[in-house]
Amino acid sequence: MPTQCATCQSPDTLDRRSFLSASTAMAALALVGTGTQSGSAHAAALTQAQRDKLTPDDILALMKKGNKRFNSGRREDHNYLAQQRASAAGQYPIAVLLTCIDSRAPAETIMDLRIGDIFNSRVAGNVENPDILGSMEFACKLSGAKVVLVMGHTSCGAIKGAIDNAELGNLTGLLAKIKPAVAATTYAGERTSKNYAFVDAVARKNVEITIADIRKNSPVLAGMESSGAIKIAGAMYSLQTGVVDFF
Ligand SMILES: [Zn+2]
Repeated sequence: MPTQCATCQSPDTLDRRSFLSASTAMAALALVGTGTQSGSAHAAALTQAQRDKLTPDDILALMKKGNKRFNSGRREDHNYLAQQRASAAGQYPIAVLLTCIDSRAPAETIMDLRIGDIFNSRVAGNVENPDILGSMEFACKLSGAKVVLVMGHTSCGAIKGAIDNAELGNLTGLLAKIKPAVAATTYAGERTSKNYAFVDAVARKNVEITIADIRKNSPVLAGMESSGAIKIAGAMYSLQTGVVDFF
Protein backbone atom coordinates (compact mmCIF):
# COMPACT_ATOMS: atom_id res chain seq x y z
CA MET A 1 0.00 0.00 0.00
CA PRO A 2 1.25 3.48 -0.71
CA THR A 3 1.05 4.61 2.91
CA GLN A 4 3.48 1.89 4.04
CA CYS A 5 6.26 3.38 1.98
CA ALA A 6 9.12 4.83 3.97
CA THR A 7 9.46 7.77 1.62
CA CYS A 8 6.00 8.95 2.70
CA GLN A 9 6.93 9.78 6.25
CA SER A 10 7.12 13.53 5.87
CA PRO A 11 4.90 15.76 8.06
CA ASP A 12 3.13 16.93 4.91
CA THR A 13 2.17 13.39 3.99
CA LEU A 14 1.06 12.50 7.51
CA ASP A 15 -1.17 15.56 7.70
CA ARG A 16 -2.73 14.77 4.39
CA ARG A 17 -3.22 11.15 5.36
CA SER A 18 -5.12 11.99 8.51
CA PHE A 19 -7.16 14.61 6.64
CA LEU A 20 -8.28 12.06 4.11
CA SER A 21 -8.68 9.11 6.41
CA ALA A 22 -12.44 9.43 6.88
CA SER A 23 -13.53 8.78 3.34
CA THR A 24 -11.92 7.32 0.29
CA ALA A 25 -8.54 7.74 1.78
CA MET A 26 -6.44 5.10 0.12
CA ALA A 27 -7.65 5.67 -3.39
CA ALA A 28 -7.75 9.45 -3.05
CA LEU A 29 -4.26 9.48 -1.62
CA ALA A 30 -3.01 7.46 -4.51
CA LEU A 31 -4.76 9.67 -7.03
CA VAL A 32 -3.43 12.96 -5.79
CA GLY A 33 -0.03 11.44 -5.17
CA THR A 34 2.00 11.74 -2.02
CA GLY A 35 5.32 13.12 -0.97
CA THR A 36 5.56 15.98 -3.45
CA GLN A 37 9.07 16.69 -2.23
CA SER A 38 10.30 13.15 -2.67
CA GLY A 39 8.55 12.62 -6.02
CA SER A 40 8.38 8.97 -5.04
CA ALA A 41 7.11 6.45 -7.53
CA HIS A 42 4.90 4.38 -5.23
CA ALA A 43 1.70 6.29 -6.04
CA ALA A 44 2.54 6.87 -9.67
CA ALA A 45 -0.51 5.07 -11.02
CA LEU A 46 -3.88 3.85 -9.80
CA THR A 47 -4.32 0.15 -9.26
CA GLN A 48 -7.54 -1.45 -10.41
CA ALA A 49 -8.63 -2.00 -6.81
CA GLN A 50 -8.05 1.64 -5.94
CA ARG A 51 -9.96 2.84 -9.00
CA ASP A 52 -12.84 0.43 -8.45
CA LYS A 53 -13.40 1.74 -4.91
CA LEU A 54 -14.08 5.25 -6.18
CA THR A 55 -17.67 6.33 -6.88
CA PRO A 56 -18.53 8.69 -9.76
CA ASP A 57 -18.97 11.48 -7.19
CA ASP A 58 -15.54 10.71 -5.67
CA ILE A 59 -14.03 11.02 -9.13
CA LEU A 60 -15.71 14.36 -9.89
CA ALA A 61 -14.50 15.63 -6.50
CA LEU A 62 -10.95 14.52 -7.28
CA MET A 63 -11.00 16.33 -10.63
CA LYS A 64 -12.28 19.48 -8.90
CA LYS A 65 -9.51 19.22 -6.31
CA GLY A 66 -6.94 18.75 -9.04
CA ASN A 67 -8.13 21.89 -10.83
CA LYS A 68 -7.94 23.76 -7.52
CA ARG A 69 -4.31 22.67 -7.12
CA PHE A 70 -3.60 23.81 -10.69
CA ASN A 71 -5.23 27.23 -10.51
CA SER A 72 -3.78 27.98 -7.09
CA GLY A 73 -0.25 27.10 -8.19
CA ARG A 74 0.05 24.08 -5.87
CA ARG A 75 0.08 21.24 -8.37
CA GLU A 76 1.77 17.95 -7.69
CA ASP A 77 5.44 17.61 -8.58
CA HIS A 78 4.84 14.98 -11.26
CA ASN A 79 7.41 12.29 -11.92
CA TYR A 80 6.27 11.42 -15.43
CA LEU A 81 8.85 8.69 -15.88
CA ALA A 82 7.62 6.98 -12.72
CA GLN A 83 4.04 7.34 -13.97
CA GLN A 84 4.98 5.91 -17.34
CA ARG A 85 6.65 2.91 -15.73
CA ALA A 86 3.89 2.32 -13.19
CA SER A 87 1.17 2.39 -15.85
CA ALA A 88 2.97 0.49 -18.59
CA ALA A 89 1.55 -2.92 -17.66
CA GLY A 90 -2.08 -1.80 -17.42
CA GLN A 91 -4.36 1.22 -17.19
CA TYR A 92 -7.26 1.88 -14.84
CA PRO A 93 -8.49 5.37 -15.76
CA ILE A 94 -11.20 6.94 -13.65
CA ALA A 95 -12.98 8.91 -16.38
CA VAL A 96 -13.34 9.55 -20.09
CA LEU A 97 -13.30 13.17 -21.17
CA LEU A 98 -14.48 14.88 -24.34
CA THR A 99 -12.67 18.18 -24.70
CA CYS A 100 -11.69 20.70 -27.38
CA ILE A 101 -8.38 20.54 -29.22
CA ASP A 102 -7.54 24.06 -27.99
CA SER A 103 -3.86 24.12 -27.04
CA ARG A 104 -4.66 26.09 -23.89
CA ALA A 105 -7.10 23.56 -22.44
CA PRO A 106 -5.21 20.28 -21.81
CA ALA A 107 -7.39 18.42 -19.31
CA GLU A 108 -4.58 16.42 -17.72
CA THR A 109 -2.65 19.58 -16.91
CA ILE A 110 -5.48 21.84 -15.78
CA MET A 111 -6.84 19.12 -13.48
CA ASP A 112 -3.38 18.13 -12.27
CA LEU A 113 -3.79 14.51 -13.33
CA ARG A 114 -1.22 11.83 -14.06
CA ILE A 115 -0.41 9.59 -16.98
CA GLY A 116 -3.03 6.84 -16.86
CA ASP A 117 -5.67 8.76 -14.88
CA ILE A 118 -8.10 9.61 -17.71
CA PHE A 119 -9.06 8.82 -21.27
CA ASN A 120 -9.20 12.08 -23.20
CA SER A 121 -10.90 12.40 -26.58
CA ARG A 122 -10.32 15.77 -28.21
CA VAL A 123 -12.05 17.36 -31.17
CA ALA A 124 -12.62 21.02 -32.02
CA GLY A 125 -15.78 22.14 -30.27
CA ASN A 126 -16.02 18.94 -28.18
CA VAL A 127 -18.92 17.44 -30.15
CA GLU A 128 -19.70 13.74 -30.12
CA ASN A 129 -19.73 11.38 -33.09
CA PRO A 130 -20.02 7.58 -33.45
CA ASP A 131 -16.25 7.04 -33.10
CA ILE A 132 -16.11 9.08 -29.92
CA LEU A 133 -19.17 7.28 -28.53
CA GLY A 134 -17.45 3.99 -29.28
CA SER A 135 -14.38 5.21 -27.44
CA MET A 136 -16.50 6.24 -24.46
CA GLU A 137 -18.30 2.89 -24.42
CA PHE A 138 -14.93 1.14 -24.41
CA ALA A 139 -13.72 3.39 -21.61
CA CYS A 140 -16.74 2.82 -19.37
CA LYS A 141 -18.13 -0.59 -20.20
CA LEU A 142 -14.91 -2.47 -20.89
CA SER A 143 -12.22 -0.51 -19.07
CA GLY A 144 -14.14 0.58 -15.97
CA ALA A 145 -14.14 4.39 -16.12
CA LYS A 146 -17.02 5.83 -14.10
CA VAL A 147 -17.37 9.40 -15.30
CA VAL A 148 -18.03 10.84 -18.75
CA LEU A 149 -17.10 14.51 -18.66
CA VAL A 150 -17.76 16.88 -21.56
CA MET A 151 -15.68 20.01 -21.07
CA GLY A 152 -16.03 23.14 -23.18
CA HIS A 153 -14.00 26.29 -22.70
CA THR A 154 -14.25 30.05 -22.99
CA SER A 155 -13.23 31.94 -26.13
CA CYS A 156 -13.51 28.74 -28.19
CA GLY A 157 -12.50 29.24 -31.82
CA ALA A 158 -14.76 26.42 -33.02
CA ILE A 159 -17.75 28.08 -31.37
CA LYS A 160 -16.81 31.40 -32.98
CA GLY A 161 -16.52 29.67 -36.35
CA ALA A 162 -19.98 28.15 -35.97
CA ILE A 163 -21.43 31.55 -35.07
CA ASP A 164 -19.73 33.12 -38.10
CA ASN A 165 -20.80 30.33 -40.48
CA ALA A 166 -17.15 29.78 -41.38
CA GLU A 167 -16.50 27.40 -44.27
CA LEU A 168 -13.30 25.44 -44.94
CA GLY A 169 -12.88 21.91 -46.21
CA ASN A 170 -13.92 19.36 -43.62
CA LEU A 171 -14.25 22.05 -40.97
CA THR A 172 -17.58 23.10 -42.49
CA GLY A 173 -19.14 19.77 -41.53
CA LEU A 174 -17.68 19.89 -38.03
CA LEU A 175 -19.02 23.39 -37.41
CA ALA A 176 -22.44 22.25 -38.63
CA LYS A 177 -22.56 20.00 -35.56
CA ILE A 178 -22.09 23.04 -33.31
CA LYS A 179 -24.66 25.28 -35.02
CA PRO A 180 -27.67 23.80 -33.18
CA ALA A 181 -26.10 25.19 -30.00
CA VAL A 182 -25.91 28.67 -31.54
CA ALA A 183 -29.60 28.55 -32.41
CA ALA A 184 -30.55 27.08 -29.01
CA THR A 185 -28.72 29.70 -26.96
CA THR A 186 -31.05 32.22 -25.34
CA TYR A 187 -29.20 35.53 -25.32
CA ALA A 188 -30.63 39.04 -25.41
CA GLY A 189 -27.47 40.96 -26.39
CA GLU A 190 -25.28 40.99 -29.46
CA ARG A 191 -25.23 37.52 -31.02
CA THR A 192 -21.84 37.71 -32.75
CA SER A 193 -18.44 36.06 -32.33
CA LYS A 194 -17.08 39.42 -31.18
CA ASN A 195 -19.22 39.24 -28.05
CA TYR A 196 -17.32 36.90 -25.72
CA ALA A 197 -20.28 36.57 -23.35
CA PHE A 198 -22.38 35.20 -26.22
CA VAL A 199 -19.55 32.92 -27.42
CA ASP A 200 -19.24 31.46 -23.91
CA ALA A 201 -23.01 31.05 -23.58
CA VAL A 202 -23.05 29.07 -26.83
CA ALA A 203 -20.10 26.96 -25.63
CA ARG A 204 -22.02 26.09 -22.48
CA LYS A 205 -25.16 25.23 -24.46
CA ASN A 206 -22.98 23.14 -26.78
CA VAL A 207 -21.80 21.07 -23.80
CA GLU A 208 -25.41 20.56 -22.67
CA ILE A 209 -26.49 19.48 -26.16
CA THR A 210 -23.50 17.16 -26.49
CA ILE A 211 -24.39 15.48 -23.20
CA ALA A 212 -27.99 15.03 -24.40
CA ASP A 213 -26.67 13.59 -27.68
CA ILE A 214 -24.44 11.13 -25.82
CA ARG A 215 -27.42 9.89 -23.81
CA LYS A 216 -29.59 9.69 -26.92
CA ASN A 217 -27.06 8.04 -29.24
CA SER A 218 -25.42 5.63 -26.79
CA PRO A 219 -27.88 3.25 -25.12
CA VAL A 220 -24.81 1.60 -23.56
CA LEU A 221 -23.80 4.76 -21.70
CA ALA A 222 -27.39 5.83 -20.96
CA GLY A 223 -28.03 2.43 -19.41
CA MET A 224 -24.91 2.62 -17.27
CA GLU A 225 -25.94 6.08 -16.10
CA SER A 226 -29.47 4.93 -15.25
CA SER A 227 -28.11 2.08 -13.15
CA GLY A 228 -25.74 4.43 -11.29
CA ALA A 229 -22.59 2.79 -12.65
CA ILE A 230 -21.40 6.04 -14.26
CA LYS A 231 -22.17 9.76 -14.24
CA ILE A 232 -22.30 11.89 -17.38
CA ALA A 233 -21.38 15.47 -16.51
CA GLY A 234 -20.47 18.78 -18.10
CA ALA A 235 -17.98 21.51 -17.35
CA MET A 236 -16.61 24.77 -18.73
CA TYR A 237 -12.96 25.75 -18.46
CA SER A 238 -12.05 29.42 -18.29
CA LEU A 239 -8.92 30.29 -20.24
CA GLN A 240 -8.88 33.56 -18.31
CA THR A 241 -9.00 32.20 -14.73
CA GLY A 242 -7.79 28.61 -15.06
CA VAL A 243 -10.94 27.44 -13.26
CA VAL A 244 -13.04 24.47 -14.38
CA ASP A 245 -16.70 25.14 -13.60
CA PHE A 246 -18.53 21.83 -13.21
CA PHE A 247 -22.25 22.07 -14.06
ZN1 LIG B 1 -12.19 25.24 -28.48
